Amino acid sequence: MVITTHHKPDADALGSSLGLYHFLKKIGIDATVVSPTDYGDFLKWLPGEDTVINFEEHTALATDLVQQAEWVFCLDFNSLKRINEMGKLVEQSSAKKVLIDHHLEPETFADYGLHTTKASSTCELVFMFIEQFDGVDLMDKTIASCLYAGMMTDTASFKHSSTYPSTHRVAAVLLEKGAEPNKIYEAVYDNFTADRTRFIGYCISQKLQILEDYRTALICVTADELKKFNSITGDTEGLVNWGLTIKGIKLSVLIVDRTVLRKMSFRAKGDFPANEFARKYFNGGGHFSAAGGESTNSLEATEEKLKNALKDYRHLLI
Ligand code: 5GP
Ligand code: MN
Repeated sequence: MVITTHHKPDADALGSSLGLYHFLKKIGIDATVVSPTDYGDFLKWLPGEDTVINFEEHTALATDLVQQAEWVFCLDFNSLKRINEMGKLVEQSSAKKVLIDHHLEPETFADYGLHTTKASSTCELVFMFIEQFDGVDLMDKTIASCLYAGMMTDTASFKHSSTYPSTHRVAAVLLEKGAEPNKIYEAVYDNFTADRTRFIGYCISQKLQILEDYRTALICVTADELKKFNSITGDTEGLVNWGLTIKGIKLSVLIVDRTVLRKMSFRAKGDFPANEFARKYFNGGGHFSAAGGESTNSLEATEEKLKNALKDYRHLLI
């Protein structure tokens, strides 16, 4: 059995995968978590993280695992594009596919699905999945810690509108099972390198543009700047949120010059449909208020395209 999740997994992606992995192990089912790529150091404390196979690093082994699997669990994504080259493998595999996800507009590649956009996180859905199999009694501190991590980060510490009554009920059970909120918070958020903290300061003080006509904050990061601050995977995570801390700002955009692509993040407040905007102009998608996209144009051209695209959406921003 293989459990996989989206490329560059975050705490919800990896936490839900490992939470499910530990549960399956408890009931005697052997599973392997295969990640399409590497992930940030802030996830390396998750119990069982050392068993995760990185597809890019161990392509032959990972390919074999997917091809041999009778079941493939797809967690925290619903479009095969989100698992890079693994998408083709999963599509072609004869395994039964189970989708557990909370993003909009799921593709139809799965045989079974636990999908709703009305859940804080995939971790919350994995809890529901375990509940459906009467497995809550089997839940221990390990499983609870994995699931709590993703619920905490996907809700930005239980403050986004995706924090439902069910989210707090599930979190309460996870605490009863032994999850330690202070330790999990510290493990995820209080382990930046000094370079990362300086990089955030640099972006905010030197790179932040305020597009007043569109109530939009924009940060564009060049490849040289990433290099200068010894940026590693995960270092730009959360940077986009800073724009929204400014009074009156309704949209925050981050564009990062990655080697092949310009990767974009969108965070919005109010009526601005970040996912629709990302899909329409930047080959992306995501949630209504938190979305991502990409561009093959240069950083400058991408910035220009963004500024033009905003003209069509100005009525939703002012
Ligand atoms: P982030 O800005 O943190 O990379 O992503 C925010 C949200 O947008 C995530 O929930 C993620 O699923 C979604 N997202 C990010 N990049 C893409 C993309 O290129 N395509 C699609 N469809 N969704 C994306
Ligand atoms: Mn998620």
